Amino acid sequence: MAIEQTLSIIKPDAVAKGVIGEIYSRFEKNGLNIIATRMLHMTRKQAEAFYAVHRERPFFNKLVEFMISGPVMVQVLEGDEAITKYRELMGATNPKFAAPGTIRYDYASDTGNNDVHENAVHGSDSQETARVEIDFFFKREEICPRTR
Ligand code: ATP
Ligand code: MG
Repeated sequence: MAIEQTLSIIKPDAVAKGVIGEIYSRFEKNGLNIIATRMLHMTRKQAEAFYAVHRERPFFNKLVEFMISGPVMVQVLEGDEAITKYRELMGATNPKFAAPGTIRYDYASDTGNNDVHENAVHGSDSQETARVEIDFFFKREEICPRTR
């Protein structure tokens, strides 16, 4: 048992589809407690900084355009092995390869053939990036670990 925190984003495609509630329900049904949440429309600067590790990738500009195309929901999820568990719930980056029953299989907007995968959700990929990404969006006092 290792309680972890991870940073989740419901991307503009899923917000536009009206599936915030359905995705939140998956978190709650799978032991991922929402301990901070906020809606925002990212600026270009914010999106470029958030995905800075991908700056040299061919899809970078399309990724930034996608992430600023509409508002997003950002949240901190907490639970046992939250980082891995949430990555499993999300499914593969390319929705074409996402397993049935995963969030990306059910809610992603593209089929994997576009310049950027519009894949409904983001999740941190390690404990180190989770910490950096949580701090990117939330102040310590905005995070509310469960007391009951
Ligand atoms: P995220 O970081 O959003 O949780 P991920 O960790 O599964 O997704 P990354 O490799 O970090 O995938 O890529 C970040 C985002 O860039 C992806 O979610 C997707 O929107 C886009 N992306 C990644 N690889 C490709 C690709 N080969 N072609 C098109 N878009 C891509
Ligand atoms: Mg990633």
